[in-house]
Amino acid sequence: MNLSQVACSIAESPTLRLNEEARLLRERGEPVIHLGIGEPKNKTPISAILSSAAKLSSGDVKYVPTDGIPSLKKAIIRYTEENYDKVVEPWNVIVSEGAKQSLFNIIFTLCNPQDEVIVLAPYWVSYPEIIKMVGAVPVIITPENGTFLPAFEEVERAVTSYTKALIINSPNNPSGFIYPEDFLSKLVGLCEKKGIYLICDDIYHKLVFDGKYATPAYRFSTVDIENSKIIVVNGVAKLYGMTGFRIGWVIAPRKMVEVMTNVQSQTTTCVSPVMQSAAEGALTGMQSIVETLRLTMQNNRDVLMQELQSFSDIRVTKPQGTFYALPDFRAYLRPSVAKNSIDLSNFLLKKALVVTVPGSEFGMEGHLRISFAGKVKDVTEGIERMKWALDPNAPSEIYIGDRKLVRDWL
Ligand code: PMP
Repeated sequence: MNLSQVACSIAESPTLRLNEEARLLRERGEPVIHLGIGEPKNKTPISAILSSAAKLSSGDVKYVPTDGIPSLKKAIIRYTEENYDKVVEPWNVIVSEGAKQSLFNIIFTLCNPQDEVIVLAPYWVSYPEIIKMVGAVPVIITPENGTFLPAFEEVERAVTSYTKALIINSPNNPSGFIYPEDFLSKLVGLCEKKGIYLICDDIYHKLVFDGKYATPAYRFSTVDIENSKIIVVNGVAKLYGMTGFRIGWVIAPRKMVEVMTNVQSQTTTCVSPVMQSAAEGALTGMQSIVETLRLTMQNNRDVLMQELQSFSDIRVTKPQGTFYALPDFRAYLRPSVAKNSIDLSNFLLKKALVVTVPGSEFGMEGHLRISFAGKVKDVTEGIERMKWALDPNAPSEIYIGDRKLVRDWL
């Protein structure tokens, strides 16, 4: 088949593939524990349900403006004012089919072929693929062994005349790390000095623990929005656990929003008004749901940290936000079990029926991403099973109900 080279070079999303694998195993009745997925178990906020139901039952579900319905944009403007202390206008906002499409639109709008986009490892799996899709080049910066924070000088050194943008995701998927203020402030300075766009993927910015705060990069810029290099991405997927509603948005200079709107008008026409009404309902409804979700995730994080303590050889940095941890499992990479994180993740799925995501997918070989978005019981049982599978002194068989698991790698 004679298909596009660019399209064929794009890797499947490993997290979506693992979701599908877990779903198929469950369908076959296998007692799978899914520590791979970035999706909390909460129900949709009632204000979102009512608002979308009202739109649906009006029977008036037609094309709407490409950049978003005015009432949702109004809610986003208020959200931006409250959370970023930034006054923006309707022409600075564009709503898309999830933050993923928002990020695609941004990269497509900014980059010419050959342009470079700096990505800090560990990174969200889709950044490099989106960058490649538009013919641009991801430039990955990997921090020193064992940390999630690259030296600022390394970022500076990675800047070339082709550098168009830098993506920062704080708190970070997959590590839960919050980038410190002085690092962010230096990044803003660097980007403004060199004319590089700073794309802030703030999708987890309210999911922070222990009284921490993910300072927005905007805080360090004095430039007005029309001349700013800062672009902010947000959405309802993680904020309200509304992953299936597919609503994300971008705050950017007017000119850029205009171009993104033209692009979106030729790909999506508009985002469903039913889904936009749901997002509006969530943003204008009771916000206690955000705090409830945050507390649940913080508790799950604590349970995970407790469970991981009994692994003698892993190193883990306590997540400060999100619902992921990225422990270092290099001590468990042995020829008899696994040569790398992909092998290790496959091994755990096959032997223990536990889904994890290999660190190599996030640019951190030797690590595994463990999600604590699910039930506490899944976190405890999943880690117990992983311990069993990796412990040479553990019994070679265990039973989960009447399903026998066999650890036969020794
Ligand atoms: N950015 C990051 C860092 C994410 O983790 C995700 C979802 N996993 C997204 C963007 C995409 O969010 P959405 O579901 O709104 O497309």
